[in-house]
Amino acid sequence: MQALMMPAPLQIAAVLEHAAHWHPRTEIVSRLPEGIIHRYTYAEAAARARQLAHALSALGIKPGERLATLAWNTHRHFELYYGISGLGAVCHTLNPRLFFDQLVFIINHAHDRLLFFDLTFLPLAEKLAPHCPTVEKWVLLAGPEHLPAGSQLPGLCSYETLLAGQPTAFEWPVLDENAAASLCYTSGTTDQPKGVLFSHRSTLLHALSACLPDCFAASATDVILPVVPMFHVNAWGLPYVAPMVGAKLVLPGPGLDGASLFELFEAEKVTFSAGVPTIWLGLLQFMRDGQRQFSTLRRTIVGGAACPPALMAAFENELNVTIRHAWGMTETSPLGTAGTLKAGQDALPKAEQDAILAKQGRVIFGVDMKIVDDTGQALPHDGRAFGDLLVRGPWVVSDYFGAPNPGQLTASGWFATGDVATIDPDGFMQITDRSKDVIKSGGEWISSIELENLAVAHPAVAEAAVIGVASEKWSERPLLLVVLRPGQTVSKAEMLAFFEGKVAKFCIPDAVLFVPELPHTATGKLLKTQLRKDYAGYQW
Ligand code: AMP
Repeated sequence: MQALMMPAPLQIAAVLEHAAHWHPRTEIVSRLPEGIIHRYTYAEAAARARQLAHALSALGIKPGERLATLAWNTHRHFELYYGISGLGAVCHTLNPRLFFDQLVFIINHAHDRLLFFDLTFLPLAEKLAPHCPTVEKWVLLAGPEHLPAGSQLPGLCSYETLLAGQPTAFEWPVLDENAAASLCYTSGTTDQPKGVLFSHRSTLLHALSACLPDCFAASATDVILPVVPMFHVNAWGLPYVAPMVGAKLVLPGPGLDGASLFELFEAEKVTFSAGVPTIWLGLLQFMRDGQRQFSTLRRTIVGGAACPPALMAAFENELNVTIRHAWGMTETSPLGTAGTLKAGQDALPKAEQDAILAKQGRVIFGVDMKIVDDTGQALPHDGRAFGDLLVRGPWVVSDYFGAPNPGQLTASGWFATGDVATIDPDGFMQITDRSKDVIKSGGEWISSIELENLAVAHPAVAEAAVIGVASEKWSERPLLLVVLRPGQTVSKAEMLAFFEGKVAKFCIPDAVLFVPELPHTATGKLLKTQLRKDYAGYQW
């Protein structure tokens, strides 16, 4: 029997229209690459997104066509999210930190027709254009006064000129909720990047779950500042979450250093933020250096890489800010789990609570997960057995965009994340490694993440990486690479002694090397493939 409910499809444009209608005066504040602060309201943002939809229609943009962005978190990028997807086209966010060849590959693979870029990326756009024949028009995200003289960029125009004079009313088309809305390529540390194509439905369901109290706990009383870039899996859904709940949105543009962020947090009274551990480590140092305190910031989400427990403790104890740990990936939109205590766990001793919160968290409704062994057999949720983490759900990828063998990726009904994890009896999942990074020593598995977390808890250590290096006797043994904080020294023996009593003896690295820096991927993760190559011949 069919239900008697309105079959209204889930639509991205409806989120902004909701905010424009019910929170018209709530602000969106952006720091722009042009060096100024821009301030307007949801009502004005929606009017401009509608103007953009008119402009794109006039350019002949059809549903399903890909339009790329090369941009920081700003109000214009926010308008592109809604104007492009609302029209039925696909907003393809490019990560400017990728290698040049990867960007060329991605733009051509996606057949991007238009490319919107910030002033910062003008030199990059000029370099890319000759290699990207599908891009008919390059649009500078600024006013016409910033257009460079004599540029060779095809069809170059300014975004403000594109919008000028367009009507502010627009009838958004009613789209199939499963239609593609946005596209993001994974960073691809080994292979070529792969495109994950999000739908209107997946985006809205993901955002709704993200708002839940045990996840982002987003509210109309919040002021949300996504440090996570809008080119990293749609800034973890925050550009949808904020208008959905009517929260004020603060967009930091290119200023992601401690001083710029702190200034914006304070000036705009930010209450909630989200980003990768590297950002918070930088901000923590800045706060400590000036003995500063936040006046309104109370909680942040840290994800994208394991959050060191030492970072959580420092934010809580020194800055009175709660860090919630979350896990996800491009293929999961990205939220899969978030870490908050269950009923009764707040009565546990503090150390036990901290150990629970250091895990990657519990699944949010909509995501199902399991861990399996090498033969695909499900493993127990006892917090000890670890295996490959598999996930499924309405915002989990079913196939990559343009994959040569459609249907294979999730033929089992599950998506294999490539992460190795445990799940405890309360449902808290803990990533112990990427399957490629796990160290196999004498038949036992050693978690490189656990060792890295311990290493960065040492006061002299700024960053640490642990990789497996071939050993005749054990097949692999852990090698620790450490970047020291400026002006700090510590001996190798002291460094290794720091692990004693904290992990099983066989897990303690066999050697430590002090290095000036560690390689990172375009999304800020440690580039372990590079490290394994560099230290492949290491003699114990
Ligand atoms: P990406 O698709 O580039 O966002 O990368 C996703 C991968 O980042 C995951 O498969 C994990 O290996 C890693 N990751 C994300 N969040 C966390 C976290 N909280 N702790 C540990 N690893 C994480």
